[in-house]
Amino acid sequence: MKKITIAIDGFSSCGKSTMAKDLACEIGYIYIDSGAMYRAITLYCLQNGLFTDKGIETEKLRASLPDIRISFQLNEAGKPETYLNGENVEKQIRSMEVSSHVSPIAALDFVRETLVAQQQEMGRQKGIVMDGRDIGTTVFPDAELKIFVTASPEVRARRRYDELKGKGQEVCYEEILENVKQRDHIDQNRAVSPLRKAEDALLLDNGDMSITEQKEWLLQQFNRITRPD
Ligand code: C5P
Repeated sequence: MKKITIAIDGFSSCGKSTMAKDLACEIGYIYIDSGAMYRAITLYCLQNGLFTDKGIETEKLRASLPDIRISFQLNEAGKPETYLNGENVEKQIRSMEVSSHVSPIAALDFVRETLVAQQQEMGRQKGIVMDGRDIGTTVFPDAELKIFVTASPEVRARRRYDELKGKGQEVCYEEILENVKQRDHIDQNRAVSPLRKAEDALLLDNGDMSITEQKEWLLQQFNRITRPD
């Protein structure tokens, strides 16, 4: 069967990664979490003192970009994990510290240019499910299947709270809600590739949907495109 490209975009913490990962596993496609790449760069900046009282040391970051290698490897359970210059950083990139610093990094044009080029290269052979903010608009504007996922900030903050709590992290719901709203604002209002629904993307509001319902809906959309008869 001919392989296609699947772009899943939407607001933060609306379950894009879970949907995208499950779908990729079900249909035997590669899954790429583009947000993890922006998070890895952010972690690098935190580790190397590139956030200062005066803001981000953009010139130092620009000079360092060629030395920042981001890759994904499957763990024993078959789940992809993010590596930064050879080190597994999967857990660190999901921390609140990274979450609260990532959007300004993702708004830098040279960071986006570099990561978009890497993402396009990863998808050159098709057979890929990628989730993010600009996948259907900028990275793969010709993707055969585009989904735009949304849910209210409160629903998304609650999910993120439950997820972090489940991982044993000490978290505060109000702080997470504030972070979700702040990231929405920065992501929608940045100059380069702002978060928006591609005209040809299907809108999925999953506020009242279970993971199983979402999975079925997504699979139906995939089958509709790849097996039209
Ligand atoms: O998807 P996730 O929440 O992990 O993404 C972290 C951040 O990276 C987002 O809040 C957004 O600022 C940025 N991002 C982006 N473009 C993408 C993926 C993520 O700007 N394609």
